Amino acid sequence: MNAFAIGPDEVDWAAALAFDRAHLWHPYTSMTDPLPVLPVVGASGVELELADGRRLIDGMSSWWAAIHGYKHPRMNHALQQQLARMAHVMFGGLTHGPAIELGRRLVALSPAGLEKVFLCDSGSVSVEVAIKMAIQYWQARGQPGKRQLLALRGGYHGDTFAAMSACDPDTGMHHLFAGALARQHFAPRPRCRFGVDWDPGDVAELEAQLERHHGEIAAVILEPIVQGAGGMWFYHPDYLREVRALCDRHGVLWIADEIATGFGRTGRLFACEHAGVAPDILCLGKALTGGYLTLAAALTTTEVAETISCGGAGCFMHGPTFMANPLACTAAVTSIDLLLEADWAARVQAIGAQLAAELAPCAALPGVREVRVLGAIGVIETEQPVDLRRLTPRFVEAGVWLRPFGRLIYTMPPYVITPAELSRVTAAMRVAAEALAG
Ligand SMILES: *Cc1c(COP(=O)(O)O)cnc(C)c1O
Repeated sequence: MNAFAIGPDEVDWAAALAFDRAHLWHPYTSMTDPLPVLPVVGASGVELELADGRRLIDGMSSWWAAIHGYKHPRMNHALQQQLARMAHVMFGGLTHGPAIELGRRLVALSPAGLEKVFLCDSGSVSVEVAIKMAIQYWQARGQPGKRQLLALRGGYHGDTFAAMSACDPDTGMHHLFAGALARQHFAPRPRCRFGVDWDPGDVAELEAQLERHHGEIAAVILEPIVQGAGGMWFYHPDYLREVRALCDRHGVLWIADEIATGFGRTGRLFACEHAGVAPDILCLGKALTGGYLTLAAALTTTEVAETISCGGAGCFMHGPTFMANPLACTAAVTSIDLLLEADWAARVQAIGAQLAAELAPCAALPGVREVRVLGAIGVIETEQPVDLRRLTPRFVEAGVWLRPFGRLIYTMPPYVITPAELSRVTAAMRVAAEALAG
């Protein structure tokens, strides 16, 4: 019997957790003073099952990805069938049904004009790919000086180097990597909120930067409508309309990072649809595979793809080992079909309405700065940074899994969550917000 055949009941969790603590990095976590981690032995529906038998309702969708919940019968069946055919083959010189089927769906569903699909490993890599596409595009057009980005303060685009260079310069840890990091241009975080009056002055600084620096700027990169990991901030769709027009006027490409917003999270299939505009390059990830496997995509226009292909290199210079992994593509195809078969828009709207109703009372609590909801995203912004060490045990006691960061207690639940389950998530958020004062 090999080690992997040992069932969770037979694991010595004390020893296993001691090993984990001694040897395994966790995201953004100290190796000398890590917060405790909870061992998960299974997950189904919207619940995580802990080693001690407790079940937690997942308010995070495993970092916004598991939109259909866990162990979904259709997802599992499709993956088992694909596994019986092949887990993986290289994509250089070969192709396969799962990639083709995924490509068909992405081209059909994504904003108009995005017809060329690059499949890669993770969100950050798709951002790297998007940035390389923009730089190669301008090289091919005889403007090799256009290789910088114009990004927004408060943005988040991933943890690899080029992606990190476009993250918020303060929270994105630029000082730690100063000198090793590409220098980019930044415009202020959009001030006009989603759902209020538009103020044209909101794009003035972005416009000024484009006027000044368009000779060096390859692309504007931003997260449409929702800035996620940079602060869960929801802004006005007119900002995107202005960005589209300004990029066209100044000869700059627009990269829309919909890794967090894609596949319905904001109430539209893609957040760009709130503004009725399409970017030149679109990044997708996270919910792309329904949270089953790591996969991302960078889509671009025929014009960008053909220009790159007519440039000096003759092709786009990127090709990861696990490009278009068939299992991951199968998960993505199945996840997209499940999404479209369900009345996802009504589900997201209902989740949003319930979040708004149940979180609203928190706005009056001392220590709470604001409550905001958009699509299936509910946020309590606090005055002071939250203390995970204190809050996590409270959430677990309440039977809920939440992972606040900074001054944000938030949920992005699976779309299949029931009203009763969602009420338990909001109740736990309320308890956490009430505890801020005392
Ligand atoms: C999560 C995220 C990324 C990075 O994706 P990874 O898969 O973690 O590399 C990039 N951009 C946005 C908007 C994200 O939310």
